Amino acid sequence: MKPVRNLVVVLGDQLSRTSAAFRDFDAATDCVWMAENQQEATHVWCHKARLVLFFSAMRHFRDALEKRKYRVIYHALEADGRRDSGADFAAILAAGVRRVKPDKLVVLQPGDHRVQRMLQACAHDLGLALEVRDDDQFHCTPGQFDAWADGRKRLVMEDFYREMRRQYGVLMRDSRPEGGQWNLDKANREAFGRQGPGTVPRPPRFRPDAITRDVMDMVEARFGDHPGRLDGFNLPVTRRQALHALDAFVARRLPDFGTWQDAIWAGEHLLYHSQLSSSLNLHLITPQECIEAAVAQYEAGNAPLNSVEGFVRQILGWREFVRGVYWRCMPDYAGRNALAADLPVPAFFWDGDTDMACVADAMAGLIDQAYAHHIIRLMVLGLFALNAGVDPRAFHDWHMAMYTDAIDWVSLPNALGMSQFGDGGLLGTKPYCASGNYINRMSNHCAGCRYDYKKATGADACPFTTLYWDFLDRHAKRLDRNRRMNFQMKNLEKKRADGELMTSIRAQAGDLRQRIRQGGRI
Ligand code: FAD
Ligand code: SF4
Repeated sequence: MKPVRNLVVVLGDQLSRTSAAFRDFDAATDCVWMAENQQEATHVWCHKARLVLFFSAMRHFRDALEKRKYRVIYHALEADGRRDSGADFAAILAAGVRRVKPDKLVVLQPGDHRVQRMLQACAHDLGLALEVRDDDQFHCTPGQFDAWADGRKRLVMEDFYREMRRQYGVLMRDSRPEGGQWNLDKANREAFGRQGPGTVPRPPRFRPDAITRDVMDMVEARFGDHPGRLDGFNLPVTRRQALHALDAFVARRLPDFGTWQDAIWAGEHLLYHSQLSSSLNLHLITPQECIEAAVAQYEAGNAPLNSVEGFVRQILGWREFVRGVYWRCMPDYAGRNALAADLPVPAFFWDGDTDMACVADAMAGLIDQAYAHHIIRLMVLGLFALNAGVDPRAFHDWHMAMYTDAIDWVSLPNALGMSQFGDGGLLGTKPYCASGNYINRMSNHCAGCRYDYKKATGADACPFTTLYWDFLDRHAKRLDRNRRMNFQMKNLEKKRADGELMTSIRAQAGDLRQRIRQGGRI
């Protein structure tokens, strides 16, 4: 067998043949290495749909490479676990290296700091050079982000986003933003009236093919006790399917994306959102393709600016920004816990067994699809955890387990930072805390709930509301210093003026927190 020049390591979230990892790939001298392994599948407790998505997309990608006559060493997990070693990442990689004896390992920068360290350690132990290439599927490399961030007092997403718009000429007229404004978010906060959303165009469903069905059998056999269900699995697992999902989104749901971006409605877990995050994060499609497809709809007069700008901001702004923050602040970032929150993740965040109508509905969608749209993540599940005082790292670990789009670089800043304020305000200027009143305003959940969103005490008090006042009270010293919290802190003062009421709120919140700590239901 001919000696191999480069062994290109392709991780499960790097499934692109045009990425920098393949820049100089020569099928005559190079070889690809990919592995499903037990260790990574159980490193975090993982929703079955997340496992199926990764493994099925990896197997499809392997087949596409082999069709082009690329040599691929692929380690598959078998349903009965007898024929595969199931061994850890390092052992499987070492076996591949022994087989082809490459001059060098090449990898695209991993999406997880831990995996990057692990690869470096493996290469060192194997006595091989490791070339880590910048992931050119993003618009901003960690180095470019640092250059932008160095010397700034605060890292403000909006400043970064404008810079990206200018640099890439997206939605720009000469040097001015299209339509005269950079950000049209004010138009993107509508709630549905009593009549609800009506008929929302559905995304295409991708029925599992033979490869996916094999993976599903394997996952049920090996990871049957993991959370989630597989009977509704219909996500894109190939580039062709992901492109189809993108086309369908921009044609049918993008026009209303902006207006209803913050809305929540029972039983509607997607609404006008794109559900493209898992395809983007696995590199089945590129952010540039998403941006171009959306802007083309605007230019053709098929989608309004508030929707297109809103969508572009999520991808060119938030997505790039959180990645920049991740690589700038790791590994220290993962341990941040500015509010010293120490509760475990509530038991009902795994099985949805709760009387809180909003949480039960969010969990139903999560168990079924391993998906929830941004506002459900931030202002229902994230809000409950924040108000209650869940450990932000534990919340991130739970998030990594339950969502198909969760990769460390994007989950950590969003879950620990934006949602739980664990970074003390690096990602958001104030905590996203609110009472049940917010959920009532943005959804139809409260009307059908056994709790009353207006009440903070008593048997039918809304747990969000009780825990909200308790949150402000517990963190008053810190929050009093935050100008953006002035309005909320003034309201707390009014509540505190009634000493008896505040004592009851504290006691009731203490009881709720104790129940969460003991794995109880609410
Ligand atoms: P859309 O609403 O259609 O948005 C379009 C795209 O913009 C998304 O596909 C996504 O790629 C990007 N985007 C939007 N908001 C963000 C953001 N805040 N950060 C990064 N990208 C963004 N997103 C992930 O991809 N993986 C995660 O693990 C993840 N964890 C999150 C955890 C919490 C607690 C919160 C509040 C948000 C998290 N997000 C995460 C961001 C966002 O909620 C999801 O990207 C979005 O809900 C995915 O659904 P969608 O594709 O329908 O998004
Ligand atoms: Fe959720 Fe409270 Fe409204 Fe019930 S009353 S749906 S718990 S916000």
